[in-house]
Formats: sequence, structure tokens, C-alpha cells
Amino acid sequence: MKYNFFDSIPSNIGSGKDNVFSNFLQTNGLYDSIQINEDNIIDLIFLLDGKVRISDYCKECKEERVFTMKPYIYFSKDSKGCSPHKLSERLMEVQRENVIKNTPSVGEVGSKENIAWEWKDWQNDDVSRILVFQFVCSMNEDHHLDYIVLTTDTSMMKIGQYPSVADMTFPKLDAYKHVISKEDRKELGTAIGLFASGVGAGSYVYLRRILERIIYKAKETAGDTVNDEKFEQAKMAERIKMLEGYLPETLTKNTIIYGILSKGIHELSEEECLRYFPVVKECIYQILGMWESERKKQADEAGLNKALNAITTSIK
Ligand SMILES: [Zn+2]
Repeated sequence: MKYNFFDSIPSNIGSGKDNVFSNFLQTNGLYDSIQINEDNIIDLIFLLDGKVRISDYCKECKEERVFTMKPYIYFSKDSKGCSPHKLSERLMEVQRENVIKNTPSVGEVGSKENIAWEWKDWQNDDVSRILVFQFVCSMNEDHHLDYIVLTTDTSMMKIGQYPSVADMTFPKLDAYKHVISKEDRKELGTAIGLFASGVGAGSYVYLRRILERIIYKAKETAGDTVNDEKFEQAKMAERIKMLEGYLPETLTKNTIIYGILSKGIHELSEEECLRYFPVVKECIYQILGMWESERKKQADEAGLNKALNAITTSIK
């Protein structure tokens, strides 16, 4: 359903999970772009209005935290001096103008020429060319998460971020240190670093290799339940299907993942590699997460058994 731009911006703060632009800032690498169009402009307006809450790793707290942003303010000069404005409000006005421009007046039925849609106009061209999104940690207002984008008439490109993707991701990998080999962890770090710098194919090659090794490890667990010969001959996507029950369901039941993985590296463009990277990375995280929770469960059970045995011995 299209948003009614004649409504005012709602006062509640929504989750970033549903906002295409905060998702873009959080997951995409540098020099990656996203279109700004009629369907998603309202997400950008909400984000600029400070109505989006995101969850990410805080480098200072060393934990996952909720971050929010103050409304984006710009200043304009007129005869009365310099005055502050909310960029979100201004962009809402541009949207209302778009609607009005394209609505035929009475008696003019359908004769009006379609005027090109725009997300900003010449008055805010300067202020919106480079946008800085400054998120603040909910636990401490000195903890920041900053993103810089360069916008055009139809898109925005991520050109900066601090803390870096590497700073944010490496500590997250610690959660899997018991279930990932040293080699895989090192290469995963390299892959993420390359991706964050806008290197598509290079980062994707690393990631596929790690996923391949992890799938092999799952095959070891499956043992003879999965036929060795058939497994060896199968492509990566088919191997995942064969390992149903030994890999997370989100992977074995998701046909989009098969589509992404069935393409050989040489068949993919640089852009496709960048687009698929977050999905394949998530696949790896899903598997590692499954292994880690199994490992933890076993460790907890072993601990409980030990405690129970100690009690049994003392009762005797
Ligand atoms: Zn913090």
C-alpha cells in the first residue's frame, strides 16, 4: 500500500529490520548503492526523522546494542538569518508536491503530462548530496555508529562507515570460536574485510570456500546416511539438500539459496557477488550458530551430570 504523504510522520519509533535504508547501511559494503524511489522514499524519511531503531554490535560496550538517531537537521539562510529545518519534513513536502503536480485539475481529465517523480528538489540538493547518519548507543550517548552516503537523483552510495565493518564483525565471530577452525575464522575475516571495501568477486570466492568446507564437516557428522559417491559428484547447492537434518532448516528448505549457490563463481558479475555476499555469509553464520548451540547444550548436560554424580557420591 502506498503511503499517504499528506499524513504527518508518525511519532513512534520503528524497528530497522523493516527499513530498507537502515538495512542497507548496516549490511552493505562500501561503494555499494541502493535506489531511491517512490516505493521506498518513506523509509528514508522515517530514518532521517529519527524514527528508526537499529540493533548492532557496539564496539565500546562490546555487546549487541540498540542505536537510534536524532532527526536530521540542516540550516538554510534567508533574509531573517540562518534557521534550522528537519530534512525529513522537507522531503515530505517534496512528496506532497509530487502528488499535486501529477493530479489533474478539474476539467483537465487525464490530459496532464506525467511529471517526473523526485525525492528531493533543487532547494535541498546541496544539503542532501552527502548525508551523515549518526546513530547513538542506547547505553551511552558517547558511543556512536556513523555512516556516510553520497546521493544522486535516484540512488545513494555508501562511502563511509565507522566503526568499520571489520571492527563490528570480528568480535561477533568470537561467539563461534569453539565450532570454527582457525583457518576458516581467518579467511572469514579476510572475506568480510574485502567485501567491506567493495571487492565483490574476491570476497565471494573466500566465502564460498569456507561454506564448502563447513558443508564437508556436516557431511562427516552425517556419515553413511548420505551416500559418499553421490555427495562427491553433487554441486554445492545439491549437497545442502542432501544434508537435510544435519544443517539448519532455513538452508535446506530455502530454494533461493540453491539459486544463489548453484551459479559457479566464473558465472557471476562483480555486482552479483556483492549482492549475494550477505546471504552466503548468513548461511555460514546459521550453520555455526546451530553447531554452537548443540555444543553448548552438550557442555551444559555434561556439567549437570558431573554435578549430579558428585551429589550421588556424597549421599552414598
Ligand atoms: Zn555502547
